[in-house]
Amino acid sequence: MTKESNGSCLCGAVRFRTRGALRGVVYCHCSQCRKQTGLYYAATDVDVSNIVIEGEGNVTWYAASDFAKRGFCRTCGSALFWKRNDADKISILAGAFDLPSGLTAESHIFVADRGDFYDIADGLPQHALGSPSVAVAQTRRNE
Ligand SMILES: [Zn+2]
Ligand SMILES: [Zn+2]
Repeated sequence: MTKESNGSCLCGAVRFRTRGALRGVVYCHCSQCRKQTGLYYAATDVDVSNIVIEGEGNVTWYAASDFAKRGFCRTCGSALFWKRNDADKISILAGAFDLPSGLTAESHIFVADRGDFYDIADGLPQHALGSPSVAVAQTRRNE
């Protein structure tokens, strides 16, 4: 049976449903994720064909760079999605999933850009910039 997962923003104006296996959660510590969330991104991803977004009209897409955009709820501000313009995958914020999420943590990326007020001590692999195993990771450092 195909695994299905559900999630939403804080106010519920945006809901989503995914099918199939979800990638391990990657923590992104880049300056864009830090500024957008106040801390860091924790995201899984799926093929765009395996997600249905309800209330997509309530998603505001912010083009934070010329190669990717960030989707958040226009009502409550929840960060929800990250998508490379040229990719067929979409990243979904792990915290947006209903519990139990079934997600497991995988690695940290862009640790060279992390905030200076916390440490990473969970023993997971850390990459200074992107990771070759993370298909949706930014390929360039954010300036
Ligand atoms: Zn919302
Ligand atoms: Zn990031």
